[in-house]
Amino acid sequence: MTQTLILASNNAGKLREFATLLAPLGLSVEPQGMHNVPEAEEPHLTFVENALEKARHASRLTGLPALADDSGVCVNALGGAPGVLSARYAGEPKSDQRNNDKLIADLAPHADKSAYYYCVLVYVRHADDPQPVIADGRWNGMMLDAPRGEGGFGYDPYFLLPELGLTAAELPAADKNRLSHRGQALRALVEKLK
Ligand code: IMP
Repeated sequence: MTQTLILASNNAGKLREFATLLAPLGLSVEPQGMHNVPEAEEPHLTFVENALEKARHASRLTGLPALADDSGVCVNALGGAPGVLSARYAGEPKSDQRNNDKLIADLAPHADKSAYYYCVLVYVRHADDPQPVIADGRWNGMMLDAPRGEGGFGYDPYFLLPELGLTAAELPAADKNRLSHRGQALRALVEKLK
């Protein structure tokens, strides 16, 4: 029997990726917007707390199991910033261009350009689930100071994979999904759910 779970996001790209990997487990995914769930607050200092908050919120408002992700880019020379603040690093309203401009400016005085993308996924069977299923993924790279490539989103045009010689925005989508922090986390989650 197929069971429906709510994705605590309305991102079409994430929905496609999650639906493909979860279908073999008999799980069908619906975005929270289909159920009129508004975006949850993300007030916490850690990715896992924010993802748990989003998953519980979606599950509480729908009465269904829910899956949430929280992700960001962490730059070593900046002590892990922007981290959980990646989506709104340059403040509101959210803007990828302003976020990238701020990151390049903040990183300019530093020789160490190493960074990584991080993603945590949280699955709850119900809103008060005491044993959420949690998986994470990490993708190492280096920040550039000029953009390259048209694909991806967010920080991708500035995120270089040194061993490939390509930015995340230059990678074909299927390759990014296979290699990325989100792809790694999703495969780890699927293993735990099996
Ligand atoms: P979230 O949707 O609240 O988890 O915010 C994640 C933020 O981190 C996004 O808005 C981007 O700024 C950044 N981010 C996370 N994953 C990626 C990625 O795969 N490429 C580029 N930026 C990413």
